[in-house]
Amino acid sequence: MTHPLNTGGDRGYLRIATEEACATREQIDGYLRLVREGKADRGTTSLWGFYGTSPSERATTIVERLLDLDDRRIADMDATGIDVAILSMTAPGFQVFEADEAKAMCGRANDALAAAVERHPDRYVGMTSIAPQDPEWSAREIARGKAELGFKGVMVNSHTKGEYLDEPKFDPILRACAEAGQPLYIHPQSPPDSMIGPFVESGLDGAVFGFGVEVGLHLLRLITIGVFDRYPDLTICVGHGGEALPYWLYRIDYMHQAGVRSGRYERMKPLNKSIFGYMRENVCITTSGMAWAPAITFAMDVLGEDRVMYAMDYPYQYVPDEVRTHDLLKISDAAKKKLMQTNAERVFGL
Ligand code: CA
Repeated sequence: MTHPLNTGGDRGYLRIATEEACATREQIDGYLRLVREGKADRGTTSLWGFYGTSPSERATTIVERLLDLDDRRIADMDATGIDVAILSMTAPGFQVFEADEAKAMCGRANDALAAAVERHPDRYVGMTSIAPQDPEWSAREIARGKAELGFKGVMVNSHTKGEYLDEPKFDPILRACAEAGQPLYIHPQSPPDSMIGPFVESGLDGAVFGFGVEVGLHLLRLITIGVFDRYPDLTICVGHGGEALPYWLYRIDYMHQAGVRSGRYERMKPLNKSIFGYMRENVCITTSGMAWAPAITFAMDVLGEDRVMYAMDYPYQYVPDEVRTHDLLKISDAAKKKLMQTNAERVFGL
């Protein structure tokens, strides 16, 4: 039986979901080991202490779905009419491990994802995971992901042990993305220990709020340090409706210019464009976890209809009705096709 959402070619566009998570058993076991041994940061302890050990249905089905790269995932995609899933290894990726272990685990995960894409070439697209603890290795892995594994983008789970990609030592990663002509997707993880205190004590550290605050900060740090002046053709993607930045953009832009003029902060320097300009020309956002018509249409209005892409956030927010929310958006057919299909094809070079 065809699910009512799965209307195939009748709808006039493919549904390409752009922020869809998977995991290897080794990766999840690694998180659990860090938690067990007291070596995980507070965010990983909170997140994977729940998903990895809770007997609740939410936790157990999410882990099962993360691990499945075949029948169950394809059946879930069919049930909701997702034609293509752009897959990446789930947060916090390999960024919470010691460098040598992270690199070994990350390389094996990239190989496993490439094999899954090879088994389902019409349904999956892969993104390269990295281990920013070793920026030069990560740069080589980005090149390998493109040349040997057929991956179309690069996934980073925000900060690495409290460090952000605007630190000079991470430049090889940004350069490798620019040289590969592939987008860098900054996916959330929990705020670092230096920031998480007030979040975790109120239960607001995870996807509920902490994720968005942390990734919004990360993207803004990259913009204000001038990453897009260094790499004018680089595209950075963030999910969750742009992690609140579109809504704040007017004030951020105004106060950034005021801050630059004041000379008050050493790192707040004149840039080639306004923050608004970078958001419209170098940043793409996705609707992962934000299947909410007012937010989607607002983001399209602010950033332009070429800058917003559909995502489901499988398996964390596997809600079939959210697909319908996108289908029923009161936007033109041409804009809807960009949102659901052609923006992703352009950004990821499909
Ligand atoms: Ca996600």
